Amino acid sequence: MSHSILVIEDEEDLAHILIDYLRFAGFTAEAIHDGRQAQERLAKALPDLVLLDLMLPGVDGLTLLRELRAHSVYPDVPVILVTARVEEVDRLVGLESGADDYICKPFSPREVVARIKTVLRRSRASAAPARPAADQLTTDPQTLRACYGAQRLDLTPKEFELIHILIAHPGRVFSRAQLLERLQPDNFEVSERAIDSHMKNLRRKLAQIAPAREMIRSVYGVGFVYEG
Ligand code: CA
Repeated sequence: MSHSILVIEDEEDLAHILIDYLRFAGFTAEAIHDGRQAQERLAKALPDLVLLDLMLPGVDGLTLLRELRAHSVYPDVPVILVTARVEEVDRLVGLESGADDYICKPFSPREVVARIKTVLRRSRASAAPARPAADQLTTDPQTLRACYGAQRLDLTPKEFELIHILIAHPGRVFSRAQLLERLQPDNFEVSERAIDSHMKNLRRKLAQIAPAREMIRSVYGVGFVYEG
């Protein structure tokens, strides 16, 4: 059965191009160009994934996303946020908006299709029976605590931020530059070399607590990936 993708995008030409690409890739796709219509559409039936533009007439994308996430009737439908500004992504990540991924305009429709496939694959994986909490790594951005099961990890603030970024996207490889971009703006003193040193310490601490698992893997010449 093909997955259904709802494209909420007020630039109609762009929406039509995306719909064509998505259908060509085997998805069922539908476009909506206005935030209020999107609310009505989502109230009727949920798609398998929402591609959600941030700036919309009627109701903006972030409000729609919050409504989706706050509504107990809606399960965790995967949402990819689309923004026209790269800088906006940092703010959104900081807001813990609950999006599964972010795409910046301009993008290639091919890239969008690839991201959609990745997010759908990941959400299917996370819908599988959860690993026992005892060997699960969790982060709480409110308290800046990272725990492995019930065991608390003693991390520096930057180590915490790095692991928090990585575990939000299991299986995705982040380059050093991408990690730098995603760290809070006040981390301007952090260099790519410093990322390596924070990662080294972080991986050492994780290895102490869970010697049998390599949770963060270094991808030679590219960056780092959280394997889950
Ligand atoms: Ca827009």
